[in-house]
Amino acid sequence: MNRVRLLVFNAALGVLDYRVPEGMPVEPGSVVVAPLGPRQILGIAWEPERLPAEAVDDARLRPLLSVLPVPPLRAELRRLIEWTADYYCAPLSSVARMVLASGGALRGPSTITEYRLTGGAPERMTPQRERAIAALEGEQATLRELSALAGVSEGVLRGLMAQGVLEPVLVDCDRPYPYAAPDHAPPVLSEAQQELAARLVDAVRQARFAPILLDGVTGSGKTEAYFEAVAEALRGGRQVLVLLPEIALTEAFLGRFSGRFGAPPVVWHSSLKSTERRRAWRAIASGEAQVVVGARSALFLPYKRLGLIVVDEAHEVSFKQDEGVRYNARDVAVMRARFEGIPVVLASATPALESLHMAETGTYEKLVLPARYGAAELPRIDLLDLTQEKPEPGRWLAPRLAGELRLRLERGEQSLLFLNRRGYAPLTLCRHCGYRFQCPNCSAWLVEHRLSRRLACHHCGHETRPPETCPECGEADCLVACGPGVERIADEVAEILPEARVALVTSDTLGSPEKAAAFIAQAEGRAIDVIVGTQLVTKGFHFPELTLVGVVDADLGLEGGDLRAAERTYQQVAQVSGRAGRGAKPGEVLIQTRHPDAPVIAALAAGDRDAFYAAETEARRHAGAPPFGRWAAIIVSSEDENEAREAARRIGATRPELPDIAIYGPAPAPMALLRGRYRHRLLINARRSASVQDVIRSWLSALPFPRGVRVSVDIDPYSFV
Ligand SMILES: [Zn+2]
Ligand SMILES: [Zn+2]
Repeated sequence: MNRVRLLVFNAALGVLDYRVPEGMPVEPGSVVVAPLGPRQILGIAWEPERLPAEAVDDARLRPLLSVLPVPPLRAELRRLIEWTADYYCAPLSSVARMVLASGGALRGPSTITEYRLTGGAPERMTPQRERAIAALEGEQATLRELSALAGVSEGVLRGLMAQGVLEPVLVDCDRPYPYAAPDHAPPVLSEAQQELAARLVDAVRQARFAPILLDGVTGSGKTEAYFEAVAEALRGGRQVLVLLPEIALTEAFLGRFSGRFGAPPVVWHSSLKSTERRRAWRAIASGEAQVVVGARSALFLPYKRLGLIVVDEAHEVSFKQDEGVRYNARDVAVMRARFEGIPVVLASATPALESLHMAETGTYEKLVLPARYGAAELPRIDLLDLTQEKPEPGRWLAPRLAGELRLRLERGEQSLLFLNRRGYAPLTLCRHCGYRFQCPNCSAWLVEHRLSRRLACHHCGHETRPPETCPECGEADCLVACGPGVERIADEVAEILPEARVALVTSDTLGSPEKAAAFIAQAEGRAIDVIVGTQLVTKGFHFPELTLVGVVDADLGLEGGDLRAAERTYQQVAQVSGRAGRGAKPGEVLIQTRHPDAPVIAALAAGDRDAFYAAETEARRHAGAPPFGRWAAIIVSSEDENEAREAARRIGATRPELPDIAIYGPAPAPMALLRGRYRHRLLINARRSASVQDVIRSWLSALPFPRGVRVSVDIDPYSFV
């Protein structure tokens, strides 16, 4: 008898065996429907030797119901699913669910009925019928479209159908994507770009695993260079995946891509409509999608013949997923390339320390673009010591920065102010009694958003209207905004430069691709004088008239106390500085800080990247932090405060004693309350050689937890909240 082992989409069920009915074409990777009690469940056929399960008698097996009309998941993808689940201590089914990310696509092609002429003539000709037949020669469309085209009613067309003059044709709803032509508009490359592009093209031709770090300063033309590798993959009929850290960046990228290849790529991200998802998923699985540009979730899609993966802005924190399966898309991209046997390019102007280390130890190949493209030079960077040059009371921009803004406005040039804080003010309090507005669900202040007149929690989405009176003491008109957010900085710019046209760029104002496109068009059309933005403006944008970048508070990122705070600050400020002076006019950067002597700030001012990385490397080595050691976190949460504390205590009490692993905690998490759940953390610091995942798995699997307790594991965590 034919049996099959299924990975089913329920972590509690895991693996189940079934009988394959006679003649049903099931192979490893097939996506099937199986009965479970009275219900039907989805499953993926898997090699039984790779998925241990309890033996079940042949006689007790139930038959599969059907095979879904999609290509079986390839072995390379099945190995990636296994690796991801194993490495990140996640259920296989949760990882596999990211592959089958379009319910619509699993149902197979969806069709609509169109109509066309058969060439026959009706028994009785009328003037209307005659007109319709003349107008519809060579056309094929839905009845409604044809009726509009011919200027007759749908009734007339139905009459023609009954006479056999019009015939129905079933058409796939998902239209083909336009063709991206590898040689549509080859660019003029600098000598350095050419050399680098030649190496990337060669890697694509060789079609074997090759991890490459593309290290190039901002504005050096990394994208144009790796587009040549994309072109080579297209010539060979291979698919390309380009991962971008933010959806907001996609829009700028699409324009450049279409210019080079004559058609846009296929886009994949979480806010696609379900019909767009279905169309993209099916084209990816069939191999029709040539180039896919997407957020991290695009990494797990079932590409038919992948030839190249590019991770652009590879240092970005947003490649790390912090919910569900807690994976880092940059690292999983390298693993996918390894399983597929293809090159993977990690492109960045400020590579992650881990990536640089891999290059230095010879695991990654490093390619460098040292200079800016064309006439552009790197901007001049100056520190503005806020303890010496104080802004006026109630203001946040020092007089020198304000003066530089005015100068740019007079010259007709653009400026950018960067502050990584959404909203108007991060904290609101009562002047009378000191009451502070806090989120009821989280350990966090409510952030005032003056534009939308609300107080909002950035962690759980809780919102409320700012009250007229203090909820604590009842005093009226007593609320004070403390500290600046970007909205407040935009207000300040409007006060000091009333004639300036100011654009606010945050995820609140740039939430959709349409809005992003409108902003880019305005900035390029020079309808904006001053851009005020969060980390969204730090990368990807290329505005040649932008000559001044002001960093409103460079110390902000250093306050978090997390492992990568210095690196992140360096990357953000270096990236946003890179927006200045990308055209012919030289750029200038002013960094406001209270700690001009902090190593990261001093390195930024000196433009001494190597010094920063060297100091940071030593600090990490000393702390046993990545890349020299490993971190993992166990996060315990529950809506019940006691239950969470008790579960964390029990985990702590049963900690294994091992020579190469140190375990800290449990302790209340810095975000002790998040979305209504109380949280405790344990931190694990291990030597590189330690098998952290195995230790954690056997440790936690031995413990029973109450239903309301959630225990999640974060391997290589980015956030320590
Ligand atoms: Zn009060
Ligand atoms: Zn909240």
